[in-house]
Amino acid sequence: MSEIITPKINIVEAPDGHQQPGFFATSLEKAVGLARKNSIWPLPFATSCCGIEFMALMASHYDLGRFGSERLSFSPRQADLLMVMGTIAKKMGPIVRQIYEQMAEPKWVLSMGACASSGGIFDTYSVLQGIDKIIPVDVYVPGCPPRPEQVIDGIMIIQDMVGKETFRRRTSSEYKHLMKNYGMESA
Ligand code: SF4
Repeated sequence: MSEIITPKINIVEAPDGHQQPGFFATSLEKAVGLARKNSIWPLPFATSCCGIEFMALMASHYDLGRFGSERLSFSPRQADLLMVMGTIAKKMGPIVRQIYEQMAEPKWVLSMGACASSGGIFDTYSVLQGIDKIIPVDVYVPGCPPRPEQVIDGIMIIQDMVGKETFRRRTSSEYKHLMKNYGMESA
């Protein structure tokens, strides 16, 4: 006997707003935040073992596509989340920074694993002791390597930040100051 399979589809929660029978009203900022947070395009910059864990994150069991991030971008200009994973040698630092600078605003950065976040076990002359020495980081995911569940947790924190970000943040004096500290200009 064939079983009828009913697909379970979860609808994203609506942002805060006013609801009455027949209408729902919210602010443009919240509507844009809702769309942005559920369609993040990550750019994976993977250099070593954490990159393998990232493959597990994208594969069918953990399936990051469930969070609207199915489409990886290998072009910085079409990405809004830079995911750095693995050991970053000092020689590679300028490349990471160039990729970050090529991304359009608004953009976010997730540092995955001990190596990207702090150099990890490689406390040597040739390894960058954390990517926040060259670019601003929004979320750090600890671990060596972090499990896919941890990375999903980090992505969900990024989603929360993206959904709540105001239009004014990227032109604010605080953001300009942050960029200036990294020797970059904000838009
Ligand atoms: S944090 Fe651990 S697993 Fe990840 S790149 Fe470094 S050594 Fe490899």
